[in-house]
Amino acid sequence: MEKWVKEIALGGAVAALVLAVIFGFDLSLLLFPLSMLALGAMFISGRGGLAGRFSPARLGGGEESTVPAVTFSQVGGQEMAKRELLEALTFLKESSRTRQLGIRPLKGVLLVGPPGTGKTLMAKAAANYTASVFLAASGSQFVQMYAGVGASRVRQLFKEARTQAQRAKKASAIIFIDEIDVLGPKRGKNVSHLEYDQTLNELLTQMDGVDSEQDVQILVVGATNRADLLDPALTRPGRFDRIVQVDLPDKAGRLHILKIHAANKPLAEDVCLEKIAAQTQGFSGAHLESLLNEAAICALRAGRERIEQEDLREAVEKVMLGEKSNRLLQQDERERVAYHEVGHAVISELVGPGSVASITIVSRNRALGYIRRASQDDRYLYTRDQLLGAIQVCVAGAVMEEIIFGQRSTGAANDIEQAVQLAKRMVFSGLSPLGIVSSDLAPGVLNDTVAQIIREQEDRVKEVLACRVDEVRKIAAHLLQEESLGGDEFRLMLGGRQVS
Ligand code: ADP
Ligand code: MG
Ligand code: ZN
Repeated sequence: MEKWVKEIALGGAVAALVLAVIFGFDLSLLLFPLSMLALGAMFISGRGGLAGRFSPARLGGGEESTVPAVTFSQVGGQEMAKRELLEALTFLKESSRTRQLGIRPLKGVLLVGPPGTGKTLMAKAAANYTASVFLAASGSQFVQMYAGVGASRVRQLFKEARTQAQRAKKASAIIFIDEIDVLGPKRGKNVSHLEYDQTLNELLTQMDGVDSEQDVQILVVGATNRADLLDPALTRPGRFDRIVQVDLPDKAGRLHILKIHAANKPLAEDVCLEKIAAQTQGFSGAHLESLLNEAAICALRAGRERIEQEDLREAVEKVMLGEKSNRLLQQDERERVAYHEVGHAVISELVGPGSVASITIVSRNRALGYIRRASQDDRYLYTRDQLLGAIQVCVAGAVMEEIIFGQRSTGAANDIEQAVQLAKRMVFSGLSPLGIVSSDLAPGVLNDTVAQIIREQEDRVKEVLACRVDEVRKIAAHLLQEESLGGDEFRLMLGGRQVS
């Protein structure tokens, strides 16, 4: 049994490697995190020599190079962040001019944003752009049990940066410190804050000392997803005084990132990356990279030479919801799930034509079945009607079950929860029959209003779905047979009116 599992895992790894080579995947990208891990381990065990503990980034073509090969053209979306960072970098790039004008050198840039949005990537691109040697460390590497260790590691890191820049005959070095919030949390928040303070103080001292060292200019680029946790001392002028926000990409950004990562992969002619960008709201750059990789694996499994739209669709679902589970449903459960999902899909399509991207009853980690929706545009504001529409889509699954089977099931628990959240949002935005309310609204009144909003939408959905039972039965039967339906196919079956 165990052997069997091992064989599968090994097979998968080999397949992935073969695929990586076929598609020209740059293996050095894999080697980089591995080497960083190894270095980290060496560092922690404290066995490495004084020099060489922080290795220059190993990037590009596999050979060792001190300046990373990543350029800003490999960073998708993030136009604002790129512009701000580039502007900050002119200080390094044109240091003689800025010095002539008496501008004090910029010492620190802080990249703030959720994981996987390209902060590390941008730091490397910054090093490439300014022809600086690049050293990377993570906040957690500095935090040790023994007092003083962190501080001496900070000193070492700066020293190493100078040595390497001199050795490589570069005028500047970029020190990238990931998870800097570990290093510079608000003081007094930690049990062993003495150690944190010493490390942080050393970092600040080193950054302050940076301009006296004219031979090698050092820029510290910090990354965190929680700027609010940082000690204010870090963000004072003369330290990390540039804060660059690196957010999740919008639709155009996602398309850009998809194109970058699709560049080395063979795509079939029918592939429309724009559609995938529309369906992946909330995905980070790392998610999108992984999506294309999964799609390639999918194509490999199917024995195809090119990646098709179908592979991409499968990959979106895999990245979003995890691996298919081999949970076996009873036949009556499968039917219930099918009708439930078709209920969601029909209402979704009526509320927002073209909004259904796919319907499936293949269960994955977190769901028995689901519909995926494509957003026309990323939205940040919702009107009353849009919220009511969203509530209708939520309750449609349960209502459909009730119409077909006479009663509902526990499968709708998540939907109900979501509907309640939407209704609460309406109440507190002043969009409910209560009008403007204060945040200390009596819980009883809140509950009654929420229940009333949801009940009214259920009634409307019931009416709409009851008139379409024939179409619904036809679509559900098809879904039970095929397990998944694409959005266009679904729209055709729903009366052939709106084909996008
Ligand atoms: P972060 O440091 O913000 O957590 P990384 O820079 O480590 O994110 O991103 C991890 C991987 O995800 C990158 O190596 C790249 O393949 C992909 N990626 C993330 N953001 C982008 C982006 N904006 N453009 C292109 N690829 C990206
Ligand atoms: Mg990172
Ligand atoms: Zn549901």
